[in-house]
Amino acid sequence: MLIIRGGRLLDAHAHTAEPADILVDGDTIREVGRPGLPAPADARTIAAGGRILMPGLVNAHTHSHGNLAKGMGDRWTLELLLNAGPWISGNRSQEDKYLSALIGAVEMVRKGCTACYDLFYEFPAPTLEGLDAVGRAYAEVGMRAVVAPMMADRTFYQAIPGLLDELPTDLRESVARLVLAPWPVSLAATRKALDGWKLDREQVALAVAPTIPLHCSDDFLAGCRDVAREYGVGLHTHVAESKVQAVAGLAKYGKTLTAHLDALKVLGPNFTAAHAIWLDADDIARLADHGASVAHNPGSNMRLGSGLAAVGAMRERGVNVGIGTDAASCSDNLNMFESMRLASMVSKVQGPDYARWLTTEDVLEMATVGSARALGFASALGRIAPGYKADIVFLDASHINFVPLNDPTNQVVHTEDGGAVDAVMIGGRMVVEDGRVTTVDAGKLAAMAEAAVARLRVANEATRTLAQRLEPVVGTFCRALAGREYHVQRYGAPPAR
Ligand SMILES: [Zn+2]
Repeated sequence: MLIIRGGRLLDAHAHTAEPADILVDGDTIREVGRPGLPAPADARTIAAGGRILMPGLVNAHTHSHGNLAKGMGDRWTLELLLNAGPWISGNRSQEDKYLSALIGAVEMVRKGCTACYDLFYEFPAPTLEGLDAVGRAYAEVGMRAVVAPMMADRTFYQAIPGLLDELPTDLRESVARLVLAPWPVSLAATRKALDGWKLDREQVALAVAPTIPLHCSDDFLAGCRDVAREYGVGLHTHVAESKVQAVAGLAKYGKTLTAHLDALKVLGPNFTAAHAIWLDADDIARLADHGASVAHNPGSNMRLGSGLAAVGAMRERGVNVGIGTDAASCSDNLNMFESMRLASMVSKVQGPDYARWLTTEDVLEMATVGSARALGFASALGRIAPGYKADIVFLDASHINFVPLNDPTNQVVHTEDGGAVDAVMIGGRMVVEDGRVTTVDAGKLAAMAEAAVARLRVANEATRTLAQRLEPVVGTFCRALAGREYHVQRYGAPPAR
């Protein structure tokens, strides 16, 4: 048992942070009460004077393979990022997969995030060994994660209608050599991982992530649906993230991507739609009626120029919305405080009706309770309350971000940037103390990362050259596709020249 004494507990709804003590039994909060809360004589005391206590933030969407590719792109649309994938994430050893996840976990916990939904990619198919390497990284840091093998049976070049035809012959032959495993191979590997998972599933669980509907055959999507239901795990995919996807989906399926997923019976309470930018009211209703979640990634959505998600409308219709950072290769830090601030801003820039803007309470709820539900931990994570896991962030109330302290809720969402995170407890264990991660040697981590990227830079030289040659063709084609097809759908004819 341990007792946290002297802290001020954030009440997001009341916009207050009043003194409170928290009794923790093992990894779980047993009681929350006024200062002087009785505790067993042998309970260890954690002094939290001058600290604001808030629930650990939950990152609803990230990609651990992206952390070794931090800072590698600028002026990339989603399609140009996907084009760069074989270059920036290629040739990874098991050690690289572990290391990439470790980097992200260290950053997240350091910035007050205690759990994440990680869509982790391996080429050409997921493996138990790769998933285990990632899972071990989270366990080593002491962070919680839902790790979902991100899979496809079509490459990006095969997924966008007409793109292959547009490529010069030599480039078309080059991308034809990027061959993904047939979907039964990927699903068999997923089952193997689900059957053989050794890690504590309350700390690191598995889920299933067909990457993008257009990149997966319908048989594959249905197979993912069935595996997720059979094992009682989450199902997570990128839905209408870009306009290119939205128009390509309409062209391919004759209906929206969300309607297509609905027709395949993929939507359900275990389903999370990442991004969900190019949705119409019917799509939002479908997600709400199936009890599905949306992972809102405002930083990535702006960085890739994907658009602004209509989160207010989703919440009004009853969709559960969590907040994510997305990958370090597209947004580029994994700072949930920044994601909250951006979520607030993005809602406010979308229209003058300020009564429909998200409040800071809404945003904080999304980044804790909303994300926790998307991860499948609705009754265990996201709150500081009896019965919930002891995942608690200690903010230094004397940090300049809280000087002066006028409104704790507003300041946690709009002012805090991770700088005031003094300590982080996950499952009753301190993983950050005095602003430093206690579970990993930061110097050793940096040296390992430098060595890995130096090796990968050489190993991925050919895919870098290929990506750079493809970039103008892909960029021009996709921009035109989105513009022309959108015009056809909206106005019934292509734009006049
Ligand atoms: Zn993503």
